[in-house]
Amino acid sequence: MTIAVLAVQGAFIEHEKKLEKLGASCIELRKAEDLEQHYDGLVLPGGESTVQGKLLKELGMYDTIKSQIEAGMPVLATCAGLILLADNLEGGEPGHLQTMPVTVKRNAYGRQLGSFHTEADLEGIGEVPMTFIRAPYVAEAGDGVQVLATVEDRIVAVKYKNQLALAFHPELDENDEIHKAFLAMCEK
Ligand code: GLN
Repeated sequence: MTIAVLAVQGAFIEHEKKLEKLGASCIELRKAEDLEQHYDGLVLPGGESTVQGKLLKELGMYDTIKSQIEAGMPVLATCAGLILLADNLEGGEPGHLQTMPVTVKRNAYGRQLGSFHTEADLEGIGEVPMTFIRAPYVAEAGDGVQVLATVEDRIVAVKYKNQLALAFHPELDENDEIHKAFLAMCEK
């Protein structure tokens, strides 16, 4: 199983370590030609969505990645990755890949709660640790979007068709269940 990890900016190495530990091979997507390789799934890591969105366009990767996702490529998106997928961003900023009918609020937890750790139930998996770093949340979930987890009434994990998107960072915690569930999506 080969997983492609977007590696233009942000926390991509941590995803690679976790996926390799679970037996997958990883390739890094840094430029348009990297998208010509075969892979079974795609990871959009945390980082800075504004920078990542800009780089996707500048590096000529935007159209291919968008069409791969629309064609059913399994995706695991964390934090900035969730922002990249969202159709709409609250506050009038333009969206990026816009492959998921959700509205996302960026940097949504204010200064005091910029970063925090908790545990909560994730549908289909159970209790998982959740590390939030200047995280977004899903303010509105459109038709067909399955809400998998909420923390203090805010939606922090969603699934839409082939796309699993999380406001937190499962790659930073010991628990491997979310990455295992993603690899199971890639096996299908
Ligand atoms: N605050 C970042 C953004 O808006 C996301 C933070 C993260 O990925 N940890 O893109």
